[in-house]
Amino acid sequence: MLDKKITVLIPVYNEEESLIMLYERLTKVINRLNYRFELLFVNDGSKDSSLDIIKSLARNDGKVSYVNLSRNFGKEIAMAAGIDHATGDALVILDADLQDPPELIEQMIEEWEKGYDDIYAKRRSRRGETFFKKYTSYIYYKVLQKSTRVPIQVDTGDFRLLSKRAIEALKTIKESQRYTKGLFSWIGLNKKEILFDRDPRIAGETKWNYLKLFELAIEGITSFTIAPLRLASILGICTFIFSMLYMIFLLIRTVIYGDPVAGYPSLVIIILFLGGIQLLSLGIIGEYIGRIFNETKKRPMYFVEEYNFDKESIRENSK
Ligand code: UDP
Ligand code: MG
Repeated sequence: MLDKKITVLIPVYNEEESLIMLYERLTKVINRLNYRFELLFVNDGSKDSSLDIIKSLARNDGKVSYVNLSRNFGKEIAMAAGIDHATGDALVILDADLQDPPELIEQMIEEWEKGYDDIYAKRRSRRGETFFKKYTSYIYYKVLQKSTRVPIQVDTGDFRLLSKRAIEALKTIKESQRYTKGLFSWIGLNKKEILFDRDPRIAGETKWNYLKLFELAIEGITSFTIAPLRLASILGICTFIFSMLYMIFLLIRTVIYGDPVAGYPSLVIIILFLGGIQLLSLGIIGEYIGRIFNETKKRPMYFVEEYNFDKESIRENSK
């Protein structure tokens, strides 16, 4: 089986404390397995010594290769860069902080050999997360799933093994604002779920805060459904119908009972209500226009500062 090669893609952003440990644990796992391996580190503009560590690993171990992005592009783009440069027959995406246990790779490969294209690791538990985070994430996925036809997996991160077919499919997607989790679902193919317990980070801090998570949430919605735009239309139709009814009611009341015109409070409420709906709709439209704007610029997704391999030979390999 040694003719099959598996690329392990590791996006790295300021992970100097965990890299060596990750490398050692990973090496233990892959030495047990009868496959050729490539450890592809994508340095996503780390500001600490991560790159130096990766370089020294690469000097001592021919399996290690790296792509150094010219700045921090974010994990989604770092993964895209890794997918573009992977040379293996399969690709495993692994976090650098050891939250995804490398030991699971063995099980993933078994499933891959059975013919699955996307073997994703689903979290059995979410240890160390607050109730608020779990609850908001639960609601979010409910809403997202209801509003799109792409089935998006809950409690699943990017930790997964992708077959060659799946990699090729992902390479064709050139969106620069990526919600990778949705893209994995979007490509379809044969999926298989395996369960695991996610460990806490071994060192350093998560790069996610609520603001970033909120951005990712908006990203997910705007790239996989236009339901919010429809919501704006529905709100518009409802207000229209309501105001027609109200108009008729006022007309009749004035004609029959000769009531004076209704007072100031109702007027203010109606104006504020309509103003709110209009701003909300504008905001929703704006989100989508912003995406159109970003995509129409057609900038390359990322810029590579250096590789430790010959790009031409990579192209040959991947043909
Ligand atoms: N990461 C990256 N670029 C970024 C942020 C994170 O490549 O801008 C990498 C990071 O080094 C790690 C993985 O993405 O390998 C997951 O990051 P993190 O642990 O912060 O996310 P969490 O596990 O909390 O979802
Ligand atoms: Mg993490």
